[in-house]
Amino acid sequence: MLNANNDPIPETIKLKNALLYAKRKLNGPPLITTTDFADRIEADFTELTPETEPHKVVCPVYDTESPERLFAFFTTRHLLSNLSSVGATTLQTDGTYKLTYEGNILITLAVSDKARRLHPVGVAIIGKKEDAAVYERAFEAITTALQKAGLPAFDPNAVMSDGDPAITAAVASSFPNARRLTCYYHMKKQVQKRMGSKKVPKDRRQTILEEIKSLQLACSDAIFKSAARRLLQRWKQLGLKAFATYFKRVWVKGPLQYWYEGAAMGEVSTNNGLESLHGRIKRFGTLRKKMSIGSFVKEMNRLIGEWSHASETHTFQSVPPRTVALEVKGFHWSEDPFNKEFVAPQLRTGIYFVPGSFSNEMSYRNYGRCDLRGRFKTFGHFVIWSKAYYRVFRNSDGLLLCTCASSAKRFICKHSIAIERMKFDIDVSLKAKALPIDFRPARGRPKFISAALSID
Ligand SMILES: [Zn+2]
Repeated sequence: MLNANNDPIPETIKLKNALLYAKRKLNGPPLITTTDFADRIEADFTELTPETEPHKVVCPVYDTESPERLFAFFTTRHLLSNLSSVGATTLQTDGTYKLTYEGNILITLAVSDKARRLHPVGVAIIGKKEDAAVYERAFEAITTALQKAGLPAFDPNAVMSDGDPAITAAVASSFPNARRLTCYYHMKKQVQKRMGSKKVPKDRRQTILEEIKSLQLACSDAIFKSAARRLLQRWKQLGLKAFATYFKRVWVKGPLQYWYEGAAMGEVSTNNGLESLHGRIKRFGTLRKKMSIGSFVKEMNRLIGEWSHASETHTFQSVPPRTVALEVKGFHWSEDPFNKEFVAPQLRTGIYFVPGSFSNEMSYRNYGRCDLRGRFKTFGHFVIWSKAYYRVFRNSDGLLLCTCASSAKRFICKHSIAIERMKFDIDVSLKAKALPIDFRPARGRPKFISAALSID
């Protein structure tokens, strides 16, 4: 009718808006149709090619056939390019909810660098069901996006996530070479939750968590198996049969068993960085309230652009940072006569063992026997063993790692710095040499953390 009167088009838009406004007042928040969604994606996002501007947010893979199948993956060429960095070997992923009126789920994908900074790879907005198929689509989307961007294929060594069995299944089919790691923080929370129903007395719970913390440092699969067997035995002897059975089924034998350091040495052990990214997505400006999927995509467009710029300012670190505090520790450790004498005969071989804090409790020979066979008499025997000596070795990326707790967290420790100094002539700074052995850096939040990237 309006067209028949040759009314200008804006009138139709006004009318449409008035109608939408009335509908919204009547029915609550607007629901976007899948056709609208496809139109918006085509209008807002350009094609991804090897020439696309690095920080331009793109949507190289989407499916708007039906609300159930809804899938759209957003990224930038720069964020994708981080996947080719040395050390980008563990893909971290998780889903988050309650962001849109329609109840869509957001899947985030990221990699952590050796400075423990998280670099998002992209996000996928999906329907309301988080199953193996959607994770497979998200993993596939990375592959497709890399191809479109003219970047090398990505074949992760590991994929880290929480306990979702959907992710376990998707990892097995999409990345058959990758080990499915479980976030240690998540694992601990799950175990704590089950302690009541598995009849663990309240006064024993803290000790059990400490024991699990010791077991987490197991530096290889064989060591973990042997130590876990002894820990289960100990719990059974203490009458904690139900808990031991549960722990064995889920965390020693089940598909979530890879939550210990030795499952992937030199890789991240928690998804905390990703969780805090989710927290920030939810807190961010307009995302504080649930929103329509259309506005949500607009907001993600802005956020991903920001992440991309931040990931360029703080580039992906393939080597852990050598702090002055660590150099001071490494320097004094390497100057200690006992350590010097211990390490000297090993400097010709490629593997180095260094004395740890419990070296008085166990002979080096006894340590070596367990290192080879991984047979412990008791769980306590394992705990002493794991702190009596440490093994310093190079990983496949050429990084010098150590089996101590500090190296597990930071991928660098006083032992690796000492070995570099004693064997490879990579000396510490003059500043570190001048500082006293008990030097502690001033406390405070490091200035280099940006709003988008985090240190876990
Ligand atoms: Zn160490």
